[in-house]
Amino acid sequence: MVKQSSRLIVPELASEDAPQVVERELYQLKPTKLPPLPRTKDLLLAYGIRAKKNLSQNFLLRQTLVRGLVRAAGITPGCRVVEIGPGPGNLTRAILEQSPLEVLAVEKDRRFLPLLEQLVDSTHPGQLKILLGDALDHDFENVFGENPRDLANSYKLEKELPSYVYDFSREWKDKSVPSIRLIGNLPFSVSTALLIKWLNHISRRNSFWQYGRVPMLLTFQDEVARRICAHVATSDRGRLSAMAQNYCHVEYKFKISGMSFTPPAGVNTGVVRFEPRIEPICDVPFKLFEKFNRHLFHHRNHNLEFNYKTLFPRDLHDEAMKCFDDARVNPKIFPYMIGNKEIGRLCRRYHEYCKLIPSLADYNYRASKKLLSEGTYKVLEEAKLNLLTEN
Ligand code: SAM
Repeated sequence: MVKQSSRLIVPELASEDAPQVVERELYQLKPTKLPPLPRTKDLLLAYGIRAKKNLSQNFLLRQTLVRGLVRAAGITPGCRVVEIGPGPGNLTRAILEQSPLEVLAVEKDRRFLPLLEQLVDSTHPGQLKILLGDALDHDFENVFGENPRDLANSYKLEKELPSYVYDFSREWKDKSVPSIRLIGNLPFSVSTALLIKWLNHISRRNSFWQYGRVPMLLTFQDEVARRICAHVATSDRGRLSAMAQNYCHVEYKFKISGMSFTPPAGVNTGVVRFEPRIEPICDVPFKLFEKFNRHLFHHRNHNLEFNYKTLFPRDLHDEAMKCFDDARVNPKIFPYMIGNKEIGRLCRRYHEYCKLIPSLADYNYRASKKLLSEGTYKVLEEAKLNLLTEN
């Protein structure tokens, strides 16, 4: 007689991150009392909830698409999930179907509370937590404060969960990522701001990233998603490509037609997966890197030289231009033609200047053409600009 294995092969979970083999015990985490899925639309009607345009409320009620998002995020049994903007909870249900250990859902619009509380009632106590508030206002420190073993014990499951479920965080340098996923069918109105905020957290390895290189699956206006993932020398390439790709491996997953949303969205949505890099390509302070790229890509129809000079007062232009040779970057190319490694080399030279002349980091070419003091030039002279000969 063949002894039945306690492990199941779960083909529908097949994605880059998902383990192909899942312990049977983990399915105890799946809420059994979830109301039937197609009811979200009815519930919206029943509660008289009308989509608010200013909160980019376009709901994804088609289960195939919602499940596609969950699959692309690599949400597997036993993992921990943060969902931004659950709205009526349609994506949240699809997440819960995957038997996560814990879900934190962050929603700004309190009108959804009754719907989300229904979901809370159908899950294990503590398995789904709702945080009412603006995701932009939160730094999300220690979101998973609770000991996962205590949490699982409070679920009073019949069988012990496999011990690896409790070992959810990873060292930053580990090749594997933590069993935590950040997912959001994001409100378009704040998606770019949230992304920049989170890239900043990734650079400092705090917030959700205190647990390791937590991957994110996020939606954007398709045009923005394509810019985030754009390769060098393509017309979509811009500041967002440089910023995102410096800190993460990015992958454009798929497009969702605007017509698939309720109410229909005027534009298509692009789904992007981000996995933080072990080392960023350019490891200078985040704010400096952000400013550098803002300037470098500001005038798309001007070459790099023109854009780069806007970071320096006129008197330093000749000096600053020497960085191009040093960084082996052609100053005559247009911004969309520069790759992240070249940006990194150029930005490191700029950072060297800012360390020598701290006021340079705050220099604003629009406010003043000549901000630097006499002393500045003395500092430069004393340093003999040896930064130009380093590396
Ligand atoms: N998750 C649902 C879905 O997939 O159909 C709703 C997605 S809808 C595009 C965006 C959701 O994010 C809305 O529920 C909206 O209220 C919420 N939201 C908007 N701005 C937010 C913010 N700053 N912080 C948290 N949630 C926000």
